[in-house]
Amino acid sequence: MRALLVQAATPPTYWGYQHSLPFIRKKATLPPLGLATLAAHLPEAWEIRIRDLHLGPLSGEDLRWADAVLVSGMLVQARSMREVLARARRLGKVTVAGGPAPTTSPDAFPEADHLFLGEAEGRLDRLVRALEGPGPSPERILSPPGLERPDLALARVPRFDLLDLQAYATFALQVSRGCPFTCEFCDIIEVFGRVPRVKAPGQVLAELEALRRLGARGPLFLVDDNFIGNRRAAARLLPEIAAWQRASGWPFDLYTEASLDLASEPGLLRAMVEAGFSAVFVGIETPNPASLAEAGKKQNLRTDPAEAVRTLARAGLEVFAGFIVGFDSDDETIFDRQLAFISSLPIPRAMVGTLLALPGTALWRRLEREGRPRTLPTGDQFDRPNFEPAMGEEALVAGYRRLLQALYTEEAYFARCALHLEVAPIRATPLRPGSLPTLARTVWRLGITGSRRRFFWRLLREGLRRGGLAAVPKAVTLAILGEHLIRYTQEEVLPRLAARLDEIRAEKRGRPAAHRVRRLDPAAARAPLGAAPAAG
Ligand code: SF4
Repeated sequence: MRALLVQAATPPTYWGYQHSLPFIRKKATLPPLGLATLAAHLPEAWEIRIRDLHLGPLSGEDLRWADAVLVSGMLVQARSMREVLARARRLGKVTVAGGPAPTTSPDAFPEADHLFLGEAEGRLDRLVRALEGPGPSPERILSPPGLERPDLALARVPRFDLLDLQAYATFALQVSRGCPFTCEFCDIIEVFGRVPRVKAPGQVLAELEALRRLGARGPLFLVDDNFIGNRRAAARLLPEIAAWQRASGWPFDLYTEASLDLASEPGLLRAMVEAGFSAVFVGIETPNPASLAEAGKKQNLRTDPAEAVRTLARAGLEVFAGFIVGFDSDDETIFDRQLAFISSLPIPRAMVGTLLALPGTALWRRLEREGRPRTLPTGDQFDRPNFEPAMGEEALVAGYRRLLQALYTEEAYFARCALHLEVAPIRATPLRPGSLPTLARTVWRLGITGSRRRFFWRLLREGLRRGGLAAVPKAVTLAILGEHLIRYTQEEVLPRLAARLDEIRAEKRGRPAAHRVRRLDPAAARAPLGAAPAAG
């Protein structure tokens, strides 16, 4: 059996850092960890290739080589997934769609002969039997019935060896799945459950060691839903990671995702920093307590979010965070409140979205009861709201656009970077291969020829004043990240949101619009590839 595992492409997003990657000579941000994990659980006798479309187009040779083509992705990658599946099918290959998007939206992949829903560990027997069988399998769904969640004791070390690791800005591994909280909009708890499942320390160290032996050095993202979902397990693991890092010469700069209540766990926080963590993503969402209550985000109501962020930053973690506008409890003042709130925080990278209703979530179920869903999510963060927003669509899209415009001016972004350098302790970081050429490229492009050179040098001066030469890597990294966040906002996001506003206003005036929002029609998700969205 020759299995071709394909990671579908993502259109440009805030998370893709497409404008930052050339500075560090990398092709993509994160390797396809899910496919490397799947590969570790497929039969040893199979020949396996992993192809990530973020690194380049899928070749005809790869497709012709394969007996079966297995494609994975999130909703934002659904179009690319369907294109690969259609190409493979035209060549007569058996096609399988799996991963987050098929798991939550199985109807959206008509080009797949088979679907695999949920997690891989201990659940692949039917898939393997169907693909190895003498003839085509009549079964469409090749995962076991139900979405039972495997014990992560079954997890094997991912096949990192099948990845072109050096093509990525950061490496990745996973320690746990699931989160104990109940945020209404979150699909993680629906898919991975509310009882966090955690790998044993020995498993995690084996994965770290496997990466190290393959030459991986530098940033490593622990892609957990909530790294402190099981605090006791995190507390047990962290000293072991610290000891391994020390013994191995500190190969990795770690970062992860965690809930904001990490700030109220000083022991855990200290242990993270001692293990080599330097950044954490947290879901802050909103300064509006009524919206937090509406969303069931109780953990953020138990703490002062601004103080929690400063606690994390003072401990040595760069906080990057998610924010949401468009809760039912938000009125039109929320945009100014969010702007003032975010601008006061040492959070250079503030990821702001409008509230999205994902199928299968408590939010989706509530909106269905209220008759408010409009469309299934398209995966486009800057599409029109996929449910009837309480504040009105025009006000929401216009306010959201204003907010992003204000957050990603050069002045605003570099001011938040300076706030971060002001608050965070400066620590010397090991010089990595490629650090000096990156520094030279950045100085040339941002400090000498770039239009933002004034801001670049001011941030560098601020870093030097605060922490001397040890602060230079952080200041340079923030400037590189800012290049993407600012350019992507100004060149892509704002024009797209302006076009959405034009559509909304045209509709209000009764003129036909090219991309009207239609009432929910699940068949729309299965529309032929390339079909224009139906007006209605
Ligand atoms: S804390 Fe994060 S992962 Fe946990 S339920 Fe809330 S949004 Fe989901």
